[in-house]
Amino acid sequence: MDTTNDKSRTILIVEDSLSYRSLLRDYLSQDNRYNYTILETGTGAEGLKQYRIVQPDAILLDYVLPDMNGLEFLQALQQQIKKPDLPVVLLTEYEKENLASQAIECGAQQYLSKSTLTNENLRLSLHNAIKQGELLRQVAELKVQNDRNLRVLDRKEEQLRLALASAQMGIWDWNLLTGQMQWNREHEELFGLAPGSFDGNYETFDRCIHAEDRAAVHECVVRSIETHTSLCHQFRIVWADGSIHWIETRGEAYFNAAGEAMRTIGTVVNIDERQQAQQLLQNQLDRQRLVLDMTVQIRRSLDLPEILQTTVDEVRQFLQIERVLVYKFASDWSGNVIVESVSADWSAISTEQIYHPCSEAAVKSFQQGIVIENADIYSAEIDDLHLQLLESVQIMANLVVPIFKGTDLWGLLIAHHCSAPRQWQPSEIDLVKQLASQVSIAIQQANLFAQAQLELTHRKQAEMTLQLLNAEIEQRQSVETLKDEFIGIVSHELRTPLTSMQGALGLLAMGLMDDEPEQMKRMIEIASIETERLVRLVNNILDLDKLDANSNCLELEWGDANLLAQTAIDVMTGSAAAAGVDLELNCQIGQIFVVPDRIVQTLTNLIGNAIKFSPSNTTVSIEVTEIDPILDRATKFDSLRADSATLSRRVRFAIADRGRGIPADKLETIFNRFQQVDSSDSRDKGGTGLGLAICKSIVEQHQGQIWVESDWGNGSTFFFTLPQPMHQHS
Ligand code: ADP
Repeated sequence: MDTTNDKSRTILIVEDSLSYRSLLRDYLSQDNRYNYTILETGTGAEGLKQYRIVQPDAILLDYVLPDMNGLEFLQALQQQIKKPDLPVVLLTEYEKENLASQAIECGAQQYLSKSTLTNENLRLSLHNAIKQGELLRQVAELKVQNDRNLRVLDRKEEQLRLALASAQMGIWDWNLLTGQMQWNREHEELFGLAPGSFDGNYETFDRCIHAEDRAAVHECVVRSIETHTSLCHQFRIVWADGSIHWIETRGEAYFNAAGEAMRTIGTVVNIDERQQAQQLLQNQLDRQRLVLDMTVQIRRSLDLPEILQTTVDEVRQFLQIERVLVYKFASDWSGNVIVESVSADWSAISTEQIYHPCSEAAVKSFQQGIVIENADIYSAEIDDLHLQLLESVQIMANLVVPIFKGTDLWGLLIAHHCSAPRQWQPSEIDLVKQLASQVSIAIQQANLFAQAQLELTHRKQAEMTLQLLNAEIEQRQSVETLKDEFIGIVSHELRTPLTSMQGALGLLAMGLMDDEPEQMKRMIEIASIETERLVRLVNNILDLDKLDANSNCLELEWGDANLLAQTAIDVMTGSAAAAGVDLELNCQIGQIFVVPDRIVQTLTNLIGNAIKFSPSNTTVSIEVTEIDPILDRATKFDSLRADSATLSRRVRFAIADRGRGIPADKLETIFNRFQQVDSSDSRDKGGTGLGLAICKSIVEQHQGQIWVESDWGNGSTFFFTLPQPMHQHS
C-alpha cells in the first residue's frame, strides 16, 4: 500500500524490557509527523513473525533479546524478506565496538545507544528508517514493474522476431554517423549470406545489388534522406551463386534536433513471386495486345503480304527468337517461304529452296491441326534427313503451327530458335496458334477480296461494253432522228413550196396562160414567193446548223443597245408599214457586251413575228432595260439558280404586240424547231417555224434566257435577257 500521502505508520517494537517499551511509546506519541500504530513484541522470533504478518513501516529493535541478538534478528529478517536494506533502528544498552558497522552491514538503517537516546534522536532515526523503508518499497515496486515490462518486451521482441521470420522480412539499421549497418538474420538470408556473416559495410550491401540497379538504389536512399520521406524501392540482388532475386525495401530516416540524418531503418522482403506474377500478367497482356493488334490490322487491311510480314515480325520480336517465317504449300505438298523475319546475326532462308515435299504423315498431322514443338532438335525424334535440313539452317529448337484456308491446309507458321535449345512455353504456343488462326482469316479475306475485285473488273468491263453499245445505239438513233427530221423537212417544208412552184411553173410552161397576162403574172408571183420562202428556209436551216457548230466560240464585243434595236427596227419598217403596224422603241441603256449581228437577227425575228401576228393599226413596242439583280431573283429562271451569278448585271429586251396571243400549252413548245401554234401559220404568215429556235439558240449562247408571256387573244410579249459584265463599258 502506498503510504506516502498518509500520516499513519505502523511501527514494530522488538524489546523485552516493558519499561523501555513504554518509554519508546511515550516518545512516539509525541511525534507529530506521523500517527503511529505501535505493535510490540518481546522476542526476536515473535518479532520476525509479526513482521511477516503486518509488514510494518519500521522496526525499533533492541540489540539484546532473550532468544537472539539484534544482528541475528537482522540476518534472519534479511533472509526472510530477501532485501539487503531493512527499515530498522537498532537500540543498544551500551556502546560496542564495530557493532554499528555490523548492524549497518546486516541491513539496519539506523543505530542508537539507549544511554544517549532522546526523543529527538529517536524521532530523527525513525523518520529516516521509515523514509528508507518507503524508498526501498518503491524501488522494489519499480523493480517488479520493470521486471514485468522486461518480460513484456522480451515477449514482444520474440513475437516480432517470429513475425519477421515468418514474413521472411529482413531488417536493416544503418547508422549514418559511423556508416555501420546492422542486418537481422532474415536480412542476411534474403541476401544469400550465411547468418552472422554480414560485416556491416555499405560496400558489402552495394556489391550484392545488381549492377544495373545500383545507381537507382543509391539515388532512392539519398532522396529519402534529403526530402525526409519514406523510401520504397524495388531492385535486384545477385547472390553468390549468380542467381538474381527481387527485393523490395522500405525505410525511414531519423534526424536529430538539428535536422541532421542520424540513421535509416527499414525492412527488406523478397518479391520474386510477385515479380514473376507481374511478369506473367504482363506477358499475358502483351500477348493479348499482340493478337488484338493483328486482328485489327487484318480487319483494316486486305494486303495479305503486308499482314503476313507484320505477323512474322511481331512473333519474332515477342518470342525474342532468331527467325519466324510463313511457308506456303504447293499442290504436291512442297512449297516455299513467302515471308520471313530474321535477326541480323542469322541468315535468311527464304531465298533458298530447301523444302522438299512434306511427308504424307506430316501433312496428315498438320491437317489435324497438330503443332510440332521441338525444344532441342537433337533430342527430338527427327529422321536424319530432316535433322540435316534443320542443321543446315542453324535451327536448335522449332515450333511449327499449321495455317488453314477454310478447312484446307494452306501453310505453316514456323518459329526458329537458333542460338540454343528452347523450351516453348504453353502460353507461347498458344499465342502462335492464335496468330496462325488470324492469318487464316486474313487469307480468306484476301481471297474474297480478290474474287470481289475480279467480279468488279468483269462488271466494269460489261458496263463499259454496255455504255459503248448504248452510245452506238444513241448515235444511230440520232442519225435516224436527223434523217427523219430531214425527210420531214424535205417532205413537208420543202415540198410544199416546191409543189406550188411546180404547179405555177407547169401552168406557165404549158402556155395555158399565155393569153392571160394577169394570170401569168400571178403564177410568176407565186413561184417567186415560194422561191423566197424556200431560200429563207434553206438559210434558216443553214443558220441553225452554223449556230450549233459555233456554240462555244462567241466573239462578244461592246455595242450600243439603242443602235442595235434601231437597226432591227429599220430592217422591219417596210413590213410594219405594209401591215399597218407602228413600231415603238424605248431603250434605257447604253453599251452591251454581245455579238451585235446575232442580237439584231434575234430582234428582227421577234419584231417580224410580232408584226406578222398583229392586226393593223396596232403598235409593236420594243423595250430595252436593265434588270435589278436582286429583284430579278424572283423571276422564273433565277429562282432556280440562286447562286452568285444571279447577282450579275442583265439587260432585258421585251417585244410586245397586241396580236392574237399564244395559248398556254404552246408557250414553251413554239421555241422548238418547226413548231407553230397553228399548222396554217407557216403557210398563211410565210414563216418557216425555225425563227424562234434560232432566237433561242442565239440567246442561250449568250448565257441568257428567252421566254414568252401571253394572254390568249390579247397579244404576246417575248422577253430575252443577256448577262452583262459588272463594270459597264464607258
Ligand atoms: P415562223 O417562221 O413560223 O414564224 P417562228 O419559230 O418564228 O416560226 O414562230 C413559230 C410559231 O410561233 C409561229 O408559227 C406562230 O404560230 C407562233 N408565234 C410566233 N410569234 C408569235 C406572235 N408574236 N404572236 C403569235 N404567235 C406567234
